[in-house]
Amino acid sequence: MASLTRALRPLSRSIPSARLASKRLPTGRPIQSAYAFSTSPRRRDAEYADLSTLPPTPISHLSETESLMADSVSKFAQEQIGPKVRDMDEAETMDAALVEQLFEQGLMGVEIPEEFGGAGMNFTAAIVAIEELARVDPSVSVMVDVHNTLVNTAIMRYGDAQSHRAWLPKLSTSTLGSFCLSEPASGSDAFALQTKAEKTADGYKLNGSKMWITNAMESGLFIVFANLNPSLGYKGITAFIVEKDTPGFSIAKKEKKLGIRASSTCVLNFDDVVIPKANLLGQEGQGYKYAINILNEGRIGIAAQMTGLALGAWENAARYVWNDRKQFGSLIGEFQGMQHQLAQAYTEIAAARALVYNAARKKEAGQEFVQDAAMAKLYASQVAGRVAGSAVEWMGGMGFVREGIAEKMFRDSKIGAIYEGTSNIQLTTIAKMLQKQYTN
Ligand SMILES: Cc1cc2nc3c(=O)[nH]c(=O)nc-3n(C[C@H](O)[C@H](O)[C@H](O)COP(=O)(O)OP(=O)(O)OC[C@H]3O[C@@H](n4cnc5c(N)ncnc54)[C@H](O)[C@@H]3O)c2cc1C
Repeated sequence: MASLTRALRPLSRSIPSARLASKRLPTGRPIQSAYAFSTSPRRRDAEYADLSTLPPTPISHLSETESLMADSVSKFAQEQIGPKVRDMDEAETMDAALVEQLFEQGLMGVEIPEEFGGAGMNFTAAIVAIEELARVDPSVSVMVDVHNTLVNTAIMRYGDAQSHRAWLPKLSTSTLGSFCLSEPASGSDAFALQTKAEKTADGYKLNGSKMWITNAMESGLFIVFANLNPSLGYKGITAFIVEKDTPGFSIAKKEKKLGIRASSTCVLNFDDVVIPKANLLGQEGQGYKYAINILNEGRIGIAAQMTGLALGAWENAARYVWNDRKQFGSLIGEFQGMQHQLAQAYTEIAAARALVYNAARKKEAGQEFVQDAAMAKLYASQVAGRVAGSAVEWMGGMGFVREGIAEKMFRDSKIGAIYEGTSNIQLTTIAKMLQKQYTN
């Protein structure tokens, strides 16, 4: 199968940073828009020169490459994932052939440079893909999200040249990754983790357990945070790379969940897991910084997942009320009581999208984005919950049964307020930053 991202490469290379391009609205209607200021990391230095010289653009404006990425992923999701969504959810299993297809399509190495087999695109292109996948299946979306925004980012940013050569080609083309921070006793208080690392003559030995690890059933590579020097508290936390077949590593349990059921979530055990020195990621004692930085931007991915989910739930219900279901002699979408709810929900989705893309653009532009990412995740998950819940009601009994996707989207929406920092934790982050700003 031809790779979707490979087809976009020539375009990605030729597009100047500021040019007229069309943005496809989620409704599929194109509009003429203004200038893009963000495309590929390859041109980063030149583009970052002076943003103030560029005319302001609508926040949701996408470059031509990003826009085509949205179209291609949307088509792929509808044609290839759509028919499998219900079965995967019922079986609580990710389709192995689909994982392979996602690699073939280049969607598992969106930001990985081309020299390592990746698509060499920018962060926003990954966000676009995550959003479009979630419109059809939030489970597939989070698999792609964790792999791209957490695992690939960790290795690209903190790995040395040797790690890049060793892992990036695999992560681009064949090996799924997991990001292992949470433990049974440490969730929101992530840095209270108890997994221990100790130095050996030629590497490290890990002991402990991880909980809630996304992708674990399908992954071949695990980024594991463990404390190398507990006397230093969180400053002992260090990141390691563990391969699936390493002796002592095991998947202890696969969780049965309310939503995103095709996405695997597992408990992992590390029992005297010996790894070589080369599997240290970055520097000893820097793991907490890596985790904070990666999760700060990873939240934009979850916000995109929740925005895509909300839109998918909305569109599914909108089609039903405006085309299929009649009561009292009219399509139910003709009643003003329904129309106002649909309009309100769409407006909230648009507001969530604006927060998501604003946070993504600020990150790419090298600006402070932590508060923006927290606000985007908080709000997008709230919108997803509200819209997916309303969509069930708009469809009446048909929204409640397991034939369509309405009830699944509603179940899937709950996770947005939990992983990569609960809503309370996002509120705490936002409040802390505001307090700093408003304290004399
Ligand atoms: C499906 C799924 C997939 C996941 N994937 C991963 C993964 O791939 N890798 C990984 O490392 N982790 C993963 N997680 C873990 C996830 O990040 C944690 O569940 C999350 O951080 C919350 O931790 P917890 O579940 O222990 O809840 P707790 O921390 O026990 O929180 C419970 C409640 O207490 C509230 N609370 C806690 N502390 C405070 C506070 N200081 N102020 C106010 N309220 C507070 C929370 O907001 C929440 O409402 C996943 C979780 C799930 C459910």
